[in-house]
Amino acid sequence: MAAPITFTLDLEDHRPDESFPLRYPTVMRRVLEFLAERNITGTIFVVGEVAQAEPDLIREVAAHGHEIGLHAWRHVPVTSLDEETFRSETAKGKALLEDVTGHPVEGYRAPTFSLVPASVWAVDVLGELGFTYSSSVLPAPNPLFGFPGAPRHPFMWPNGLAELPTPLAGLGPLNVPYLGGTYFRILPWPLVALARRFVTSSPVPWTYVHPYDFDTEERYWPVPDAGRMAPLLWVNRKRMFAKLDRLMAKGAGAPLRERLDEARRGGVFNPAEARGEQR
Ligand SMILES: [Zn+2]
Repeated sequence: MAAPITFTLDLEDHRPDESFPLRYPTVMRRVLEFLAERNITGTIFVVGEVAQAEPDLIREVAAHGHEIGLHAWRHVPVTSLDEETFRSETAKGKALLEDVTGHPVEGYRAPTFSLVPASVWAVDVLGELGFTYSSSVLPAPNPLFGFPGAPRHPFMWPNGLAELPTPLAGLGPLNVPYLGGTYFRILPWPLVALARRFVTSSPVPWTYVHPYDFDTEERYWPVPDAGRMAPLLWVNRKRMFAKLDRLMAKGAGAPLRERLDEARRGGVFNPAEARGEQR
């Protein structure tokens, strides 16, 4: 039987600057309502600066039963930071989220899946800071950030940090995370359904979204990282809730922390990996 899909969301402030209206608290609360109506709990990766600006919102998210993970202190790629800056900012973000929610923070997701060969030093820092798992690797070549050659199923880094990589589905020559973000939003449902058939063969499939994916009222601005693709970030937003409903129709998976425990019990990690040895 195909494994259920876990809901994950990256809670970040998508505005280019503060002259734009603040949208994510309103949209996040709509998402919370949608999930509560369906008894879905997932993992919400929160940017440290967002938790600093809106601690009540983060407490609300946690009170709904969602796991809170860290989505970096600032929403910048890991590759743009040196190790010391990464260490101090990540420690600050983890401590703040733990302070705000009263729960340990065990999961980390790199902005834009920027855990890549050039930033792999971050794995040791995450282990030292007490994270249990990361969900930061896109295990294929990708025009933005990718880690070609990384395992496509959950795996252990040599220091014992678990990695839950982005579930990929190959349609043609491309292997991309069709179950999340812009791919999920712009693709017609039949293609998502097809992709879903492939990725649910992964023991821990998950989708990922952002508040802006649902935000039909956000004013357009050309997101620089997205280049000529920027208009795609605004496509099909009004269909997101309905699409997510279809994706989760057969029930959603538990938050990633719980899925990780299940995967360990189910022997998903091989014994050498579980001991933290390199294969
Ligand atoms: Zn992000």
